Amino acid sequence: MRIVLLGAPGSGKGTQAQRLIDRYGVPQISTGDLLRAARDAGTELGLRAKAIMDAGQLVDDATMLGIIRERLARPDTAKGYILDGFPRTIAQADGLAAMLAEVKQPLDAVVLMKVDRDALFRRITGRRTCRRCNRVFHVEFAPPSVPPPCAGDATAHDVFQRPEDSEATIGKRLDVYESQTAPLVEYYGSRGMLKTIDAEGDIDAITARLVQALTG
Ligand code: AMP
Repeated sequence: MRIVLLGAPGSGKGTQAQRLIDRYGVPQISTGDLLRAARDAGTELGLRAKAIMDAGQLVDDATMLGIIRERLARPDTAKGYILDGFPRTIAQADGLAAMLAEVKQPLDAVVLMKVDRDALFRRITGRRTCRRCNRVFHVEFAPPSVPPPCAGDATAHDVFQRPEDSEATIGKRLDVYESQTAPLVEYYGSRGMLKTIDAEGDIDAITARLVQALTG
């Protein structure tokens, strides 16, 4: 199962991808997580990416394609993967298609998760991430105090707001999505690969719609 989850920042791609991991037995590949890991490790790429991410801009396509090529070469992708946050531009989508054509493993589906802009804004400003286990919460809709605890033990989650989720950066990120990523809707739509789901409301109901879109 090779899937792309497409949607604006805050549309719930990460949350839903985490639920699909168990159901389909394939890894979630979040380019945002890969970049944050590089940033936290202080690698040359990570340091370069930090300023770009903090400003709500996109890391360049060649760099992103290099990261994805490396990640897709790992053995845990043999049965497939859920791409979350990639591709984000037409050039990335073209690069991915070429890469997958080489190995004759095309995408099975691209799912657009639709959420209106006001709801996105509310979701992102409330978002908190655990420093230790990387799980994502929301101060209102999914507070970190509910089980399971951090890393499966009794430790409380150590949450913080990622710099790119601050109010100052969100408007910029949503504009970047509209101008650079939203054209992928037409790109995949015209290739007959796009399924669209309503990604507002109850998280379980959204998962059900997503699974239905993937199996239907
Ligand atoms: P995310 O967690 O997917 O919202 O990503 C956080 C930030 O990482 C984005 O705002 C971008 O700065 C950067 N990023 C993640 N994925 C990509 C990508 N596919 N292309 C360019 N930049 C990306």
